[in-house]
Amino acid sequence: MVNMSPLKPVRGTHDIFPEDSRRMRYVVDTSRILSERYGFEEISTPIFEFSEVFNKTLGETSDIVTKEMYTFADKSGDTITLRPEGTAGIARAFISAGLFQELPLKYFYVGPMFRYERPQKGRLRQFHQFGVELLGVPEPQGDIEVIALGAAILDELKIDQYISLNINTLGNAESRSAYRDQLSEYFKDNKEKLSDESKVRLDKNPLRILDSKSDIDRPVIVEAPDILGSLDSESAEFFEAVCVGLDKLGISWERNPLLVRGLDYYCHTAFEFTTDALGAQGAVLAGGRYDGLVGQMGGPPTAGIGWAAGLERFMMLVVDEVAQVRPIAMIPIGKSAEIAAFKLTNSLRRKGFHIEMGYRGKTKHRMKNANSINACAAIIIGDEEILKSVVTIRDFDTGEQTLLSMDGLTVYLERFL
Ligand code: ATP
Ligand code: MG
Repeated sequence: MVNMSPLKPVRGTHDIFPEDSRRMRYVVDTSRILSERYGFEEISTPIFEFSEVFNKTLGETSDIVTKEMYTFADKSGDTITLRPEGTAGIARAFISAGLFQELPLKYFYVGPMFRYERPQKGRLRQFHQFGVELLGVPEPQGDIEVIALGAAILDELKIDQYISLNINTLGNAESRSAYRDQLSEYFKDNKEKLSDESKVRLDKNPLRILDSKSDIDRPVIVEAPDILGSLDSESAEFFEAVCVGLDKLGISWERNPLLVRGLDYYCHTAFEFTTDALGAQGAVLAGGRYDGLVGQMGGPPTAGIGWAAGLERFMMLVVDEVAQVRPIAMIPIGKSAEIAAFKLTNSLRRKGFHIEMGYRGKTKHRMKNANSINACAAIIIGDEEILKSVVTIRDFDTGEQTLLSMDGLTVYLERFL
């Protein structure tokens, strides 16, 4: 018996066939063009790292570290993790390369990420992110710039109308720690009303309770103290500057006091572009400021802010059909024209034209095929044409048929580019 299961993709992974690849490329190209316009340059880090890169930075209580990492021992016994997100690897690369004198640095990245979670629509085990990181800018202008870039991409993809921007602040280290204490006290007083999962969070990281999606926790969470009451003047001014900056740029936002990133290295701004068009998978693009990250990894203290967007979620929201380049069909008439047509096909392709020549069949069949591949025109070449060094071009949109000398062909075809 043949075991069929290896013929299926692993649960939570997808093959991306050409139609989806085109949509993916449209989304990535748009994000790339906008990011470059904002001064960001591409960086690629390995898709696997030593596990410590993520263990140490994402926080021992995060969903990613507790439940979602693909970790394995390689043949030398090193413990390796498939990257669940991009920021930690980029911070590691920044430290490895010792780029401390080069700040500020503006990077974007794109590629697959891996998380072992329950697959659903818009939630995969291998998915793709496009993200940006801005290193070495402690001022609120950095926050405004990266959020503005995210908004510009959503706008350019014409999905901005489905999406709203939520922001919050976690304050600086002192404010957050004051808030953490206050929150911890409040949740301890209400411990018996919390879900089991949140009872565990209470000891490890009470901020993360605010993140809980459990209905049991809801009523307790809505009554919890707001961080705004714990902000010192530096933190309050920073948040104010970000909000005012977004207003000035005409980017609408809403404050969500429950938006927290419960990890130690996060500070100040946290933000999320969300939609209700994708069910529970509402977060489309999310990020925040992580001034403590590089320092915590062993590098010099370095400000950082960035975001990551899920490309599969982007792709589900894009309504525009992504246009395919229309080919020109090459149609040889008769066996002996076939070689000449094949040669012409190859030389035109090398000149930049998209030419398709079927592999077999009579003229009628080939014409039909030209139609089914949505060709914009056909180059018809037969024995007589070869002798006279001419070809016939039929423009499928106008129905016009033109006899052309071989010399004039390239110039004529430029209209189809
Ligand atoms: P969620 O709340 O949906 O689990 P998250 O907080 O885990 O999201 P981030 O770690 O902030 O997500 O990742 C940034 C973006 O990557 C998300 O906003 C989402 O668009 C996308 N993303 C995260 N996990 C997945 C996944 N398993 N499959 C597809 N896209 C994902
Ligand atoms: Mg998640």
